[in-house]
Amino acid sequence: MSQADPLLRCSDATRYFGGLLALDHVDLDVHRGEVLGLLGPNGSGKTTLFNVLTGIYAFSEGQAVFDSRDITQDMPQAVYKAGIARTFQRSRLCLELSLFDNIAIGNYNRLSLGMGFNLLRRRAFAGELKANFAAARELVEVFSPALADRMNEPVSHFPMLDRRRIEICRALISRPKLLLLDEPSAGMTHDETHQLMDDILTVRQHTPELAIVIIEHETSVIERITDRCAVLNFGKKICEGTYAEVIRNEEVREAYLGAA
Ligand code: ADP
Ligand code: MG
Repeated sequence: MSQADPLLRCSDATRYFGGLLALDHVDLDVHRGEVLGLLGPNGSGKTTLFNVLTGIYAFSEGQAVFDSRDITQDMPQAVYKAGIARTFQRSRLCLELSLFDNIAIGNYNRLSLGMGFNLLRRRAFAGELKANFAAARELVEVFSPALADRMNEPVSHFPMLDRRRIEICRALISRPKLLLLDEPSAGMTHDETHQLMDDILTVRQHTPELAIVIIEHETSVIERITDRCAVLNFGKKICEGTYAEVIRNEEVREAYLGAA
């Protein structure tokens, strides 16, 4: 693939759950460095698309090519190694573990784990841990310098907004090429949501090559941070374009009104 080719090309992505067609022959491209909003009413297949892309569920039909590589059959770990990281709709932080430990979990790809390594090369392991701590701290600092001074505190000490920041840092520590965010603002106030989006824009400035697909409901946020949007309804992609274009689309309006 050349630079102009999409980072991710998802063709004919289809997923059945028994007789339910949750994802209906969806074609979607994601380009390097863009922020793509994935919209649609509840139950329209947004999370399912993330789940098939990241290998959590198999594709019933269709395929995904990421960074010149067919990832259709890949297991979650292989997809992650290929450069796709994600956050989940429900928080997956370990509240009793520290901020650093929670981020380090996201970096198992880079740590040379394994009993043998740890026992035989303790000094190397300590060095690696130090380097990882520095990398995690640097990442957290982009989000919040105040948080970066609290790397050893348990996550249970932090409010919702900080927890979301930590989850995004955990996804970013593997230095992915594509970040999938599943409703990062869920459960947050309007102000908190806007702060988190400011953070995401800052991350974007730091890593302009990173592509982001964000599932988000708050319209003012979508408008502000996305370059392009795709809208799903009953598992089908019904519209694609800038936010201004998709909200003018008749089918999109009907999908949202129908779901209201
Ligand atoms: P969204 O994220 O857009 O709200 P989902 O992708 O979670 O929607 O769900 C799409 C449809 O697939 C829904 O009808 C949902 O009930 C169904 N679905 C999702 N995951 C499963 C599953 N593991 N088993 C059965 N049905 C599922
Ligand atoms: Mg969902």
